[in-house]
Amino acid sequence: MPLKVLDGRCAIVTGASSGIGQAVAVALAQAGARVAVNHSSGGESAARAQKVVDDIARDGGTAMAVQADVSREDEVAQLYAQTEAAFGPLDILVNNAGIEQPSPIEQMTLDQWRRVIDVNLTGQFLCAREAARHFLAREAPEGERRARGTMIFMSSVHEVIPWAFQANYAASKGGINLLMRSLAQELAPRRIRVNSIAPGAIRTPINHEAWDTPEALADLLKLIPYGRIGEPDDIGRAAVWLASDDSDYVTGTTLFVDGGMTLYPEFRGAG
Ligand code: NAD
Repeated sequence: MPLKVLDGRCAIVTGASSGIGQAVAVALAQAGARVAVNHSSGGESAARAQKVVDDIARDGGTAMAVQADVSREDEVAQLYAQTEAAFGPLDILVNNAGIEQPSPIEQMTLDQWRRVIDVNLTGQFLCAREAARHFLAREAPEGERRARGTMIFMSSVHEVIPWAFQANYAASKGGINLLMRSLAQELAPRRIRVNSIAPGAIRTPINHEAWDTPEALADLLKLIPYGRIGEPDDIGRAAVWLASDDSDYVTGTTLFVDGGMTLYPEFRGAG
């Protein structure tokens, strides 16, 4: 059997009990990685994460569910400790967990602002810092086209497209852009690659009201030149490439996976 591109690698995917994180966990496992499927709390999210792990195992892959709220420093440290105890030194972080709490600005509470920034931006900082510590604790590979470790931030088209009624979310994703690029600049000499994926509209629970009726979907498709909504596995395949040595010379980049949503589609036909 041919070697898979992530054979022998160890990965953490945050917020992997649903949507994009689930698809990324499945795709990394199919590519040969051992995957920690992070979920935020017990109860329903634990059951969903266990189902993702079971599906991966049924497909011949290796995964385990690990609970941690990414906005909590102590829980993030535990996530890494548990992952490395089970699967060995970490190679890949996919910093995916994220939430939305929309509100008109005049009604947005400080709690709504803080929770979105805490999970989407501070959570990505905490997980990236921990990943850097773990990557730096091991030798850099010499003379190979291989990084010491790779990080992928899950950003959004809203790192560049302003989003009315979602100022907290757009601010968090704009913040990820410069967090990612600053870390890429800082860590490249130490052979750590850092990139983002910026999804467009992907069919997941976070945005179900944008696609779960024919009218909503028709409105959404006006914004997507490629003419279809994105599926979670569109992001899974992009993550495998960015995590693998196939992208060894790529760092500090945001890969837009958006069917052209950032191409100003309302200008089609103008002029
Ligand atoms: P989703 O709601 O299905 O997934 C988000 C996941 O994050 C959930 O599993 C949730 O339990 C988890 N999570 C939330 N808070 C957490 C915390 N404190 N600690 C750990 N996990 C936590 O939505 P999704 O669409 O799969 O979103 C995944 C990422 O993709 C998010 O960062 C989101 O901003 C980004 N994104 C999504 C879209 C889209 O169209 N779906 C577009 C652009 C960006």
